Amino acid sequence: MTSKGKNQEGEKLSKQKLAAEPFYRNEKNPEDICISFDREKEVRKPTVLLHSCCGPCSTSVIDRLVPDYDVVVYFFNPNIDDRDEYLKRKETQEEFISRYNKINNANVQFIQGEYDPEEFYTCVEGLEEEPEGGMRCPVCFEMRLRATADKALEMGIKLFGTTLTVSPHKNYQIISAIGQEIAREKNLEFLDLDFKKKAGFQKSIEMSREYELYRQNFCGCSFARTISEKKSREKGEKTNNEQ
Ligand code: SF4
Repeated sequence: MTSKGKNQEGEKLSKQKLAAEPFYRNEKNPEDICISFDREKEVRKPTVLLHSCCGPCSTSVIDRLVPDYDVVVYFFNPNIDDRDEYLKRKETQEEFISRYNKINNANVQFIQGEYDPEEFYTCVEGLEEEPEGGMRCPVCFEMRLRATADKALEMGIKLFGTTLTVSPHKNYQIISAIGQEIAREKNLEFLDLDFKKKAGFQKSIEMSREYELYRQNFCGCSFARTISEKKSREKGEKTNNEQ
């Protein structure tokens, strides 16, 4: 598994960092220097509350973060307004985390937010006709990032982030601006990374195959689903007409 190598690499880097740190290299009287130093606390990885939209998108994001962070996945997606689809994606997420932890000897945690599609409908009222990537989506991002930030506050976690930027269909600049704004408001930090970089999206596809995860073919809400189904129908009709 690639992440194992990465873990070893991460460990190696941490050790190198520690060895290079003058604090640890004072050979005259190391005991004196260590008296007031809480080594455990100092070397512990920061915790990030990572909002996840679905298991497949979370794969490469989690794998990228695990060497440097204690990752707590927050599954909060009332935008998936079909309950069966929601449960399928939630189970896929849990299944991935559980297997990833076993294979990589990791300790990624999972928590689920409240599921109430009405919350989503209320937020996006009047934007139902917008296409995917239109004006409805930033509202949907904000709803999920706000809930993640609130959960982080409740749990005493300073840092929050989201898997959303791994998708080439999602606008990183918009997500980044929303995350930064919420972080400022709530005195938190936003893990501002474009996870599609460093071949993140491609890797998420490969890992989803490797773990045999269920991968949906539409974003989440019924509005996007209708458009996606219409496109597939049109594509099918076009193919049939061409035959
Ligand atoms: S298309 Fe996706 S991001 Fe946009 S509103 Fe629907 S679920 Fe949210």
